[in-house]
Amino acid sequence: MIPYFNKFTKKIKTLESLATTTERKILKLWEGLGYYRRAKNLLSTARVLVNDKQSKLPQNLDELKKLPGIGDYTANVLLALIYNQPRLGLDGNVKRVFSRIFNVPEKKINFKLFIEKNKKNLFYLNRNSDFVEAMMEFGALICKPKEPLCNVCPINKICKFYKSGKNTKLVSKIKKNKKSYNIFCYLNKKKQIGLTKKNDLGFLKEYNLPIMRENAHKEKIKNWNFLCNYKNSISNKRLDINLYYKFSNKIPKDLNWHSIHNNKEFLPTFTKKIIRQVENLY
Ligand code: SF4
Repeated sequence: MIPYFNKFTKKIKTLESLATTTERKILKLWEGLGYYRRAKNLLSTARVLVNDKQSKLPQNLDELKKLPGIGDYTANVLLALIYNQPRLGLDGNVKRVFSRIFNVPEKKINFKLFIEKNKKNLFYLNRNSDFVEAMMEFGALICKPKEPLCNVCPINKICKFYKSGKNTKLVSKIKKNKKSYNIFCYLNKKKQIGLTKKNDLGFLKEYNLPIMRENAHKEKIKNWNFLCNYKNSISNKRLDINLYYKFSNKIPKDLNWHSIHNNKEFLPTFTKKIIRQVENLY
């Protein structure tokens, strides 16, 4: 993450310069990080702030949530980090910490109500920007999902989970959504691959990919060569991929040829993985 951040901030130093950068340039800088919608939202938000808000981030939760890509969690974290407001971002790490301290499953805690009722105890130092960051880091580094570091934990004396001597049963598992896809790569002798932005996939929609179809009915594939099968995880999806290819000079009209080397266009990591597989055919 840090090299990406450094590269990004070296090229784009101010909110104003972000707002005037093209989407293509932003996506190229973001390339490899995934979650490309976030890059687009960042750009849209920068433009709204510069054009309509005198380059100032709103200090009000509802106003913040009107900005592209900013939901309840992000709005709370921003207000705490930037304006030191007494707020917490309720991500999985923070919920897990509270769930363990009280030894109550996450599902049984009304977190919003809990924060509201305990404002004075939670935010008594008025170091709210440090606190929101510390809670997230504490959950990620000490009170980890598996094998929390209870022996070195500075709050183990008040932690009911630790005192109970249980294992990590309170962690709610995120189920991965498994799906199978067939991917069809047109290749030519000039080391090019046919890509399209017209795959209607939901995730990675609008990005350059080969033809891709869900393999829900185990369709029989004719006239394509099987290259390999591999797994690819994208956010909460676990994809089982069958990769097919054929050499051809002609491609369907929705596809465009892209060089498999030195591609100057933004390509998602998902497509780059496909390209690494087909490179072996040359
Ligand atoms: S004692 Fe263990 S379970 Fe309790 S808060 Fe600390 S790290 Fe988490």
